[in-house]
Amino acid sequence: MTSEYMSPARKVYLDHSSTTPVRAEVLSVMMPFFAQAFGNASSIHRWGREARVGVETAREKVAYLLGAEPSEIVFTSGGTEADNLALRSTAHLLRSKGNHIITTAVEHHAVLHTCQVLEKEGYEVTYLPVDKYGMVSVESVREAIRPETILISVMHGQNEVGTIQPIEEIGLLAKEKGILLHTDAVQSAGKIPTKVRDMNVDLMTISSHKMYGPKGIGALYVRKGIRIAPQITGGAHERGRRAGTENVAGIVGFGEACYLAERELEAEGKRLTTLRDKLINGILEKIPDTVLNGHPTKRLPHNVNVSIKYVEGESVLLNLDRMGVGASSGSACTSGSLEPSHVLLAMGVPHEVAHGSIRMTLGRMNTEEDIDYVLEVLPPIVSRLREMSAFSASTDSEVCGGGHKNVQ
Ligand SMILES: *Cc1c(COP(=O)(O)O)cnc(C)c1O
Repeated sequence: MTSEYMSPARKVYLDHSSTTPVRAEVLSVMMPFFAQAFGNASSIHRWGREARVGVETAREKVAYLLGAEPSEIVFTSGGTEADNLALRSTAHLLRSKGNHIITTAVEHHAVLHTCQVLEKEGYEVTYLPVDKYGMVSVESVREAIRPETILISVMHGQNEVGTIQPIEEIGLLAKEKGILLHTDAVQSAGKIPTKVRDMNVDLMTISSHKMYGPKGIGALYVRKGIRIAPQITGGAHERGRRAGTENVAGIVGFGEACYLAERELEAEGKRLTTLRDKLINGILEKIPDTVLNGHPTKRLPHNVNVSIKYVEGESVLLNLDRMGVGASSGSACTSGSLEPSHVLLAMGVPHEVAHGSIRMTLGRMNTEEDIDYVLEVLPPIVSRLREMSAFSASTDSEVCGGGHKNVQ
């Protein structure tokens, strides 16, 4: 086992929704901005001007991916900060208009936990339910709207189960009602079209490290005419919308990543979809008692999420890692809690099934041979774990290695 762990037959990274490697082309455009064009982009001299050109060229490239204008792009430290900026700014600026926010039960924690803080500040938040595919209905958004609703925040592509939400329709509804719409498009940007005008959104979050750019940089698209209250205060950077000396190299890399993603979007989307479906179908065919989580077709091209009954997701992950395969889990047993993914629970997946869920997210480097390899190593791992497992179809408690039972 040890030698296998040291040098598995193959190494297959299948966790691209957690983060991606920086592309070589991205790294090479970033390099000059560390030690040569290192100036502060606000400085008047040539060093500063060089940095400023880097930042503004990158802003154009990010805008190109989103079909936006460069002035509508606000750089942040990542997706989390962009989500925070969208929600907190809107909540505070529109406080006199109302205190109600609509979001969904399957948002990323950057949105959910921010909403919880806003609730403590006196805002009211409706967390919309989803169907068994993790999809929110436009009708449920319509029904949740009140006179005091100031913001709707619904993510585009779900990060755990890959379901693509009907943002365009929700956008039309929001427009009709005069309510701002924010979408977290961190997982969908660079994978499927995310043109802000087609999607009818006012605010959109994206993040660099989920699309082959560096970590620690992201952006909020802010439709022209919408005011933003900076959440990080200081200098007048980003037109007074986000203070702090620009992360020039990061911004330059992010811009290049956006540009390349837009150029390759269609071809890479098709390629990933084929690999995704091969992996999904292979797992469902080769391993009995498995179910696909998320929508079968309205799904991000790189997302596979399956529940493998009668095993713990964590055990599968450790065994996959030993075989060189990097995946992630839908449950949170590692954190010492028995609480499975809030997303799977919102979809009505039973606790014991949710505990056996694993997420595999594909990326640029993955090949058909990688998928063949996973389909070769995964079935015996599952058989072995099921044989070893103390519980079976008839006893499905104590799934996460003991401890207290869940309250739900
Ligand atoms: C990763 C992720 C974020 C957070 O982005 P960071 O740049 O890592 O802060 C937000 N939303 C979704 C859907 C994500 O997948």
